[in-house]
Amino acid sequence: MKKIAVIGAGLSGLTFASSLNAKAEVTVFEKSRGIGGRMATRYAEHYEFDHGAQYFTAKGEAFQNFLEPYLERGIVENWKPNLITLSKEGAKERVSNHPSYVASPRMNALAKEMAADLNLVGNTHIDKVTGVAGAWQLFDKEGSSHGTFDEVVFAIPSHQAAVLMPESFEYLEQIKHVKMDACFSLMLGFEKPLNVDFDGAFVEGSPIGWISVNSSKPERPQGFSMMVQSQNQWAETHVDEDKDKVQAMLLEEVSGLLNQDLSKADHQVLHRWLYASTSVPAEQNFFHDEKNQLACIGDWCIKGRVEAAFESGHRLAEKMRSLL
Ligand SMILES: Cc1cc2nc3c(=O)[nH]c(=O)nc-3n(C[C@H](O)[C@H](O)[C@H](O)COP(=O)(O)OP(=O)(O)OC[C@H]3O[C@@H](n4cnc5c(N)ncnc54)[C@H](O)[C@@H]3O)c2cc1C
Repeated sequence: MKKIAVIGAGLSGLTFASSLNAKAEVTVFEKSRGIGGRMATRYAEHYEFDHGAQYFTAKGEAFQNFLEPYLERGIVENWKPNLITLSKEGAKERVSNHPSYVASPRMNALAKEMAADLNLVGNTHIDKVTGVAGAWQLFDKEGSSHGTFDEVVFAIPSHQAAVLMPESFEYLEQIKHVKMDACFSLMLGFEKPLNVDFDGAFVEGSPIGWISVNSSKPERPQGFSMMVQSQNQWAETHVDEDKDKVQAMLLEEVSGLLNQDLSKADHQVLHRWLYASTSVPAEQNFFHDEKNQLACIGDWCIKGRVEAAFESGHRLAEKMRSLL
């Protein structure tokens, strides 16, 4: 069987790997302790925060079909949030035309299910890929070798893929043109529930882009937890700023928007995402250099969304299955 290495255990990498698993010998490498990439969850005492993707929609048939068994088993649930648009002028109700899905009981639960039958090597940051088609060698940051593979699939953000990718990759220049933007996620936990009349708020005209009551999602712990996420453009201009300063600025802004002082939140942690969303996508489902047996997938190929990450991994798996 063909040996394929997948670098990255986010939704795109896991979709590809689980779809080809029976047809090839697939190994997934993930640098973090946990899996799921930007479909991430942080725990803190009795609070929990989905500090990456907030919820996702399924507009295409392939993703809807993929989600069906997970919906039946309760691994994915329809959140049904009370959504609003919030600006300095006030709040307006917002209607969504598509179900707002979340993995349950936390956002990384879907990845855990998908990875159950996969050969996954965690805590392993792949730092070098050398060799030739049919004999690619992977090395981690400590210089240890992780074997030889016929083909390598890079399922990581575009900038990281461009740095790690062998120079012979036919589409290297194209992936360098993709632009991904940062985001700050401020996690706030409160001993007493706040008095807010929404579950999710799209914010306009502010450094903040989104506020949600994370604990309003299905199966979450009771501790009142709030997610505050910055606008991507604001994050780009403050990306190197001192974290305490950014946290203070976001706290002041959210307090103003909600007309209450949130600076006394019992739990306050800021996370910086360097590659959160995609402002200039590649506008194609994946890149596959058949001659060199190298490929790239990820949300950034299409759009900075969970469904796009699925679509990218799914489409490459479809093509590779036809070649095996
Ligand atoms: C703050 C934020 C809010 C978001 N909100 C939404 C939303 O509401 N709705 C929505 O649809 N989408 C949202 N998204 C986008 C969504 O999370 C992504 O589209 C999707 O999760 C991307 O999946 P992926 O597989 O392409 O990449 P990733 O999830 O980034 O997966 C890449 C994986 O590769 C690993 N990796 C990287 N380099 C290496 C290496 N060298 N060696 C080994 N492993 C490596 C990473 O640790 C990661 O696990 C949001 C993202 C963020 C950050």
